[in-house]
Amino acid sequence: MRAKQRIQMTRRLTFYAGLSAAAMIGFMIGGNQPVAAADSDAKLFRAGAAKVEIKTPMGMPIVGNWDSPPATHIHDELHVRCLVLNDGQTSLAFAICDNVGIPREVFDAARKFIQAETNVAAENVLMSATHTHSGVSARETRVVDGQQVLSAYQQLLARRIADAVAKAEQRLQPAKIAWGGVDLPSEVHNRRWYVSDDKLLANPFGGVDKVRMNPPRGSDALMKPAGPIDPEVSFISVQSVDNKPLALLANYSLHYVGGVPKGDVSADYFAAFSEKIGGLLGASDSNSEFVGIMTNGTSGDINNIRFAEKNSSSSEPYQRIDEVSDLVAAKVAAACESLDYQDWVPLGAAHAELTLAMRKPDAQMQRYFASLLEPGRDPASIHRHAKTYSQRVKRLQEGPDETTILLQAFRIGDLSVMSIPFEVFAETGLDLKQRSPFADAFTIELANGSYGYLPTPAQHKLGGYETWMGTNRVQRDASDKISDVLLSLSQQINQQ
Ligand SMILES: [Zn+2]
Repeated sequence: MRAKQRIQMTRRLTFYAGLSAAAMIGFMIGGNQPVAAADSDAKLFRAGAAKVEIKTPMGMPIVGNWDSPPATHIHDELHVRCLVLNDGQTSLAFAICDNVGIPREVFDAARKFIQAETNVAAENVLMSATHTHSGVSARETRVVDGQQVLSAYQQLLARRIADAVAKAEQRLQPAKIAWGGVDLPSEVHNRRWYVSDDKLLANPFGGVDKVRMNPPRGSDALMKPAGPIDPEVSFISVQSVDNKPLALLANYSLHYVGGVPKGDVSADYFAAFSEKIGGLLGASDSNSEFVGIMTNGTSGDINNIRFAEKNSSSSEPYQRIDEVSDLVAAKVAAACESLDYQDWVPLGAAHAELTLAMRKPDAQMQRYFASLLEPGRDPASIHRHAKTYSQRVKRLQEGPDETTILLQAFRIGDLSVMSIPFEVFAETGLDLKQRSPFADAFTIELANGSYGYLPTPAQHKLGGYETWMGTNRVQRDASDKISDVLLSLSQQINQQ
C-alpha cells in the first residue's frame, strides 16, 4: 500500500441561509490548496467497488409507511454499495446504503472511521440512503447528558459504511470511465395533483390544501399534476483497462417502488437493479468484483403509480420491483453500448455547510391543536393524521432553532454530481441539471443526512403532505438557498 498521504482538493465553505450568493463567497475558510501528485500515479486513473452486507437484525421497526411493523423476514439483505475513484491525486467515494433515510450523526461517525482507516479524504465521501421503504429504522439518535448517542443499529451502519469504503479502496485497479443518461419516463409519475374534490384536500392543521399527494388512482377528481418529472436515468460506468465491467452507479428520480409484504426487509428496486445490471453488461459470474449501485435522484414528489389510470390488475408481492428494475437495467445496459470510455479524467470535490432555520408553529396553529383536545369535539371533524402532526409540530417547537447541513459537489471530468440531504423535488433536480456549469450533472438526494422533504417555495404555496410542518422542517426557501450553494460549489470545482 502507498504511504498514507492525504491530498485534499476540497475547499470548505460555510454559508448562512440569510446571505446573498456574493456574500457567501466571503465565507470561504480553511481552504486546502491542491497538492501536486508526488509520484508516478499522476494521470493513472483507478477505480474500485465493493458491497458489504449490513446484516439486518430482526424485530426492528420497518420504516417508510404510517405504521412501523417489526422486521420478521429478510427477503433480500440490505447493503452498503461503494465506488471509489482515484485520478492519481484525488479520491472520490460514493457509499450508498439501503435505508429510508439516515441522520447526519451516523454519516459523521462513518466519516471518522474512514478518516482513520483509509486513504480516502473523509470529506470526499458522498454517503446516502437509497430510500427503500422496507428497511429498518436508523433514525433513533438518543441524547444522553446533552450528548447525542448512536443506537446499536446506527453504530452498525456507520461501521458497515466505512467497511465498504475500505473494501472498495483495497480493490482499486487501473480503470477507465464513461457516463451518460437515458430517458425512462414510464416509471416516474408526479404524485402531487390538483383535484376538484375539496374532501381530498383537507390537511391536519384544519385547513385546505391546493394539491393532494397520492390522490386516488383513476379518480374523476384528478385534474393535473402539480409538478414535473425528471425522466433521466443518469449513470457512471467503470471498466478495467481490459474492458471488464467493474461498477455501474446509476441515478433515477424514483422515490421507490414497493409492493413488499408487511414485515419483510427488502432493498426494493434499488438492489434489484444493482444485481441485474452486471449480467446485462457482461460481468461474468467469476467476475465477482462487479458492483451495481442505484442512487436516488430528486424524487420527493415522484412515485411509481400511474395516477391517471384505473388500477386494472393487482400485482403480486415484488412483481413491480422486478418489472421496474428489469426496465431500468435494460435501458441503461443498452445506453452503455455506445459509451466512449476515457483512460483518465480529473476528479475534484468541494463541500459547504449551510445553516437553515427550523420551522416553528405560530400561535394560530398551536391554538388549533390545543382545541382538538377540548371535550365534546366531534372526532369526525378531525383529520386522521392530526394527532401525528400535533406531535411532530410539538417536537419542532421544542427543538433547536436552526440546523446545519452538509452539501457536496463532485467533479468527474465534465460531469458533476451534487448531493442534498433532503427528499428533493424533481423540479429542483431539473433546475440544477440545467444551471450546472458542467456538460452533464445529476443530484443524489438523502445524502449526508436526512432532514425531511424539500419543497420549492412555489410548491409550499400549494400545500400538500410534503409541505406540512413536521414533514417539512426547514425554512420555506431552503431549496433556493441549497441550489445557490451547490451551483457556487460547482463553479469552484469547474475552475480547478
Ligand atoms: Zn418516502
